[in-house]
Amino acid sequence: MRNVRAAVCVACGAEHEAGNDTYTCKKCGGVLEIVYDYDYIKSRVNAEKIAARGEFSIWRYLEFLPVEEDSKLGPLRVGWSPLYRTEKLGEALGIPNLYVKDDGINPTSSLKDRASAIAVVRAARAGRDTVACSSTGNAASSLAGGAAAMGLKSFIFVPGRAPQGKLTQLLIFGAVVISVRGNYEDTFKLSAEAIEKYGWYNRNAAINPYLSEGKKTVSFEIAEQLGGLLRAGGGGRGAAVSAGGFAAPDYVAISVGDGCTIAGLWKGFKDLYATGFIDRLPRLVSVQASGCCPVNRAVETGRPIERMEENTLADSIAVGVPRNGAKALAAIRESGGITVNVSDDEILAAMRLLGKNAGVFGEPAGVTGTAGLKKAAEQNLIPAGAVVVSVVTGNGLKDVASAQRAAGIEPSGAEGAADSAGAGAAGSPALLRIAPEMKLLEEEFARRGLRTQTP
Ligand SMILES: [Zn+2]
Repeated sequence: MRNVRAAVCVACGAEHEAGNDTYTCKKCGGVLEIVYDYDYIKSRVNAEKIAARGEFSIWRYLEFLPVEEDSKLGPLRVGWSPLYRTEKLGEALGIPNLYVKDDGINPTSSLKDRASAIAVVRAARAGRDTVACSSTGNAASSLAGGAAAMGLKSFIFVPGRAPQGKLTQLLIFGAVVISVRGNYEDTFKLSAEAIEKYGWYNRNAAINPYLSEGKKTVSFEIAEQLGGLLRAGGGGRGAAVSAGGFAAPDYVAISVGDGCTIAGLWKGFKDLYATGFIDRLPRLVSVQASGCCPVNRAVETGRPIERMEENTLADSIAVGVPRNGAKALAAIRESGGITVNVSDDEILAAMRLLGKNAGVFGEPAGVTGTAGLKKAAEQNLIPAGAVVVSVVTGNGLKDVASAQRAAGIEPSGAEGAADSAGAGAAGSPALLRIAPEMKLLEEEFARRGLRTQTP
């Protein structure tokens, strides 16, 4: 990889050669960061060249990625998810220049596909036939899907609480699933031991420094797509677009669990800044669940990260011991970032807000960034004219039980219980359960004051 200079420890600064089995620091055990030769990258590519490409996936930005030039790239189309200008949602949140990046449209419906794409390409290039990871769910399903597409076997460790939707994805993708009776920490430890023992390719994002490199492509896309939208007149901010057509937002909000995703997000903007694609950096809005916010707590108190209980329905970010905490802290601090913690009720409300005002259906952790933006706006932490991007990290169908809670209906299986003549006794005011008679429908409309169109 001519574009990669080294893998550097974020704790002690020790430099390592970026090889196939380069994981954590050999000196201190710290996490590593892939460092690039920006002069080399600049000699190979610029904004105009990228804009002219017909490749609409993470491989659009190949010169910035840690893969050998002769690698076989996977067949799945990962990345190039849409960036929407969401005026109605912006109004609801009090953020007029709001954009939503919907990463739930990836092949396995989450942002983690960006990291898994790098993992399976690197594993195949290194001649491995089996990949493995521990995950709260999405990294697992993305690895299983990516591995299946590349013809690799996968062994996946998940905590017992992983939602059914994610477990189902794993089994459909042909993974061997080890459901661990314990929390994420227990799951991670067992997977680490097994990976060591059996010599599988390690896709644990906290250990494998190449994975946040995949995640950073979300920032490349935000900058390129935002540049296009701003030039087209969105928000009257065309002046913020660089000569090459890329633009950095003022703020980017994202949910934080293990810390790897926000670290990747920041790395992406730093890469673009270092190579002159953008002329300033955004501030990060790090959003965690109040019931599990060890990263934000460390930022707020200035103390090291301390273990917390995993008390939130947003399973993807229920991480009591963040494995990439150091990178996440550095990203938030370097960007002059904001931390916001939100309750489960605020997360469920954000699911409804995004759905109703933007047509975007996110899972609880997927919408946590949006929930945090709402709160930050209420607390006047976001200036009125700011250009703000909210990254939705995963699709709502992955966790139907939580979506049903957000929608105010009984979890599936209990539907028959509420099906009576007096429709909707409990639950969602928008759900009418009635017998098939027009008269009953009219009565119910009248009772609820629903306005209907007349011919
Ligand atoms: Zn070190």
